[in-house]
This record gives sequence, structure tokens and C-alpha cells, in this order.
Amino acid sequence: AAPAEKVPARSPPVMPPFEHRPRPYAGWSGDEILAKRKQFLGSSVFYYYQKPLNIVEGKMQYLYDENGKRYLDCFGGIVTVSCGHCHPDIVNAVVEQTKLLQHTTTIYLNQPIVEFAEALASKMPGNLKVVYFVNSGTEANELAMLMARLYSGNLNMIALRNAYHGGSAGTIGLTGLQTWKYPIPQGEIHHVMNPDPYRGTFGSDAIAYAKEVEEQINYGTSGRVAGFIAETFQGVGGAVELAPGYLKLAYDTVRKAGGVCIADEVQSGFGRTGSHYWGFQTQDVIPDIVTMAKGIGNGLPLGAVVTTPEIANVLAQKIQFNTFGGNPVCSVGGLAVLKVLDKEKRQAHCADVGSHLVNRLKELQQKHEIIGDVRGRGLMLGVELVTDRKEKTPAKAETNLLFEKLKDLNILVGKGGLHGNVFRIKPPMCFTRDDADYLVDAMDYAMSGL
Ligand code: PLP
Repeated sequence: AAPAEKVPARSPPVMPPFEHRPRPYAGWSGDEILAKRKQFLGSSVFYYYQKPLNIVEGKMQYLYDENGKRYLDCFGGIVTVSCGHCHPDIVNAVVEQTKLLQHTTTIYLNQPIVEFAEALASKMPGNLKVVYFVNSGTEANELAMLMARLYSGNLNMIALRNAYHGGSAGTIGLTGLQTWKYPIPQGEIHHVMNPDPYRGTFGSDAIAYAKEVEEQINYGTSGRVAGFIAETFQGVGGAVELAPGYLKLAYDTVRKAGGVCIADEVQSGFGRTGSHYWGFQTQDVIPDIVTMAKGIGNGLPLGAVVTTPEIANVLAQKIQFNTFGGNPVCSVGGLAVLKVLDKEKRQAHCADVGSHLVNRLKELQQKHEIIGDVRGRGLMLGVELVTDRKEKTPAKAETNLLFEKLKDLNILVGKGGLHGNVFRIKPPMCFTRDDADYLVDAMDYAMSGL
């Protein structure tokens, strides 16, 4: 049961002003939607709040519910809204293209898909120059796994425990979280320890974790593998930044065993970490295959796989086709995202606001025992809550209570981690220092009432 609430003594913080008035809402009420949703929507949907929110409008870092109540969106539609809700440049690009040509596939020539592929390739280091467009992160990882297996002529994949790579029959195997697993064949996938500096057995010792990759290859396979996949910042798994230096060691080991290295950038790409454009660059590695989705389209259904010409060549023997992947509307949207991120210098902005927010969260940690760990960089942050700092006992009930309280204070954060006790803070990248201050003040206020 949730602990009893104490009333905090001081007055709640005041939200920063924002010039946007939501339109009057005349649609179905949340109660009506919920009733129909229960009847008609697949049973695997889950609700984030005790009383689910009916979100009807979005503007940059803010969302509005059916009553016009404004929320500071600190989760960006699960790290998907990169530039801001309904960013005008992206809306305009999409609307104009929709009027002109909504759909054609790669069986014809069309400028947007190629222009977008070129722009995306220009953002990649090394020889990562060939782009495949798909519709989601799951599809991207599915294709990456296929490439790795074809290229290496081997089936064994290595993935990290605590990872989330998708929900298809193939990617469920890569995902290393029990909640998302179904009892279906997982096929030649080996999970190694995730190098989690806070909870992991070896702390920040990247060498010890990388040794486990070697051992898994030695004892769990014939000595050869197809590939290794990892998020640099485990997202669903609770905003875990991998121990520094880990990927370099793991990549070396995997390559020696004939495998290719896949970076899942579905959450961490496009400058969100502040220090680099891609998450893997924080570990000073260049993968052989990079998968991306979410932020690439600011909410449009879009994903991509980028690889080297050599690896791409293995798919040339057969037809690789995706009906919607890179359709003109999503392509102009994705291109607009890249332009906005550059024009508005969002990477530098994430670095600035992110460091301010981390400093303030660390101050908060001094004040509230319940904050066990503050981690991440840029606008890719996690706050892990514990009832006992030494034992690191997950504060599950308190997390749920605070989560609801923050919503009442007009703040939406993400929740995650193995124990569901991590606040994931990954807002649209237009999030400001004032927003960060409001978030921290609201957390302070809510935690003072515990
Ligand atoms: N990879 C990562 C790191 C993710 O966080 C997700 C989704 O949360 C996926 C892959 C799957 O993406 P999608 O939901 O677009 O299929």
C-alpha cells in the first residue's frame, strides 16, 4: 500500500508562462474514450495514471488535456517528440507534402526519400552511409538483426540484460526484460550483464562486464557470433548509462568473434545527450549498424537502419522492400526534424539545460533520502528512487505516489526500470532551464509531502 501522505508546508511552485491557448475541445470525454478503448482496443494497452489522461493538444514542450489543463511534458511521448509537439516547421513540411503526394514506394523515383537519406547519412561517422527506412524501432532492429546474421553467416546474437529492442517475434528475443517477454522461441540470443554503474554487480568496471561478453561467446556459442546489440543509454530499462569504456571493449570482443556491432539509437540519438549527436559517440565507438526511430520523426511513424555499403550488400542478393518505409510524407517530416535540430542548435541546448537540470537534481538528492541515483546526460536523464540508499531497496509505492502527485502539479514524467522505480526525464529538446527549475521545484514539493 502507498505510504500515508503528509501535507507539505510551503506553497506549490508556479509553472513558467507559455503563450499558447488550447482550442476549445468538443471531442469525446476521457471517460467515454476509456469505455470504448476497453471494448475495442487490444488488451495489451496499459494506462500510465490511475485515471488515464485524455490528451487533446500539444504545443512544443506542453500538452493539454480535455479541460485545457496544461502539462509540462518531461517524457516527450516516450522520447519521441524531439523538436517539440506540433513544431511549426515540421507541421508545414508534412502538410505541404500531404497535399502534393502522400504516398509512393521505392519502386519509383521520388526526391524526398533520397534527400532525407543523404541528410541522415551526413550525420553519421565513419563509413555508415547506406540508409534503409522502416516504420518503427522494432522494425529497425529486426532488419539490423537480419543483416548481422546474413553478413556473418551465423545466428548467435548477444544482447544486454535490461535492454528493450522491440516487441516483434524476433526483437522480443533481443529484449532483456521479463515484463515484455512472451513464451515464444527466442532463437540463439544470449543476454549478458548490463554494465549498470548503479545496480550492476561490477559497478563501473567496464573490463569486468566486457569479460562476460567474452565468456558468453566462449561458453554459449561455438566461438563465432552474428552480432551484438546495445542501447548506450538503456531507456525502458530505467535510463541506465552504460559504464564508461564498455562498448569499446565489447565491440572488440564481438568483432574478434566475427560479429557486427549494432547501436540501438532509438532513444539516444539526434543530439539528445548534449555532448554528442549519437549515444554511441559518448563511448567513442563506431558501430557497424545503427538503428533509430522515435525522435527521427518528431512523432511521425518512421525508423531507419544505417550501415556500411559492405554490410548493405548482403541484402542486395534478395529484395528488401518496405511499403511505407520512407514514404514522402515521413521523409519530408524527418528532413524537417534534422533541419530544426541544426537551426535551433538543439544539441548544445540539451547540453546546457541538461547540465543545469542534473546539478539541480543532485542538489535535490542531498535533501531527499529517497533519491538513490541521478544519472544520464543532456536531456536523457534518470532519477532512481529507493527506500534505503545502502540496500538500494526500490521505492515502488513511493514512485507511484510521486508520479501521480507530479501529474497533479502539471508534470508528466516517464517511469521505468526493472523495479518500476525510476523517473525517466527525456522531454522534447526545446525544454528550457525554467522548465527544468519548475520540474525540480515540483519534485521537491511532492517529495516533502512523503
Ligand atoms: N529500441 C529502443 C531503445 C526503444 O526504446 C524502443 C521503444 O521503446 C524500441 C527499440 C522499439 O521501438 P518501437 O516502439 O518504435 O517499435
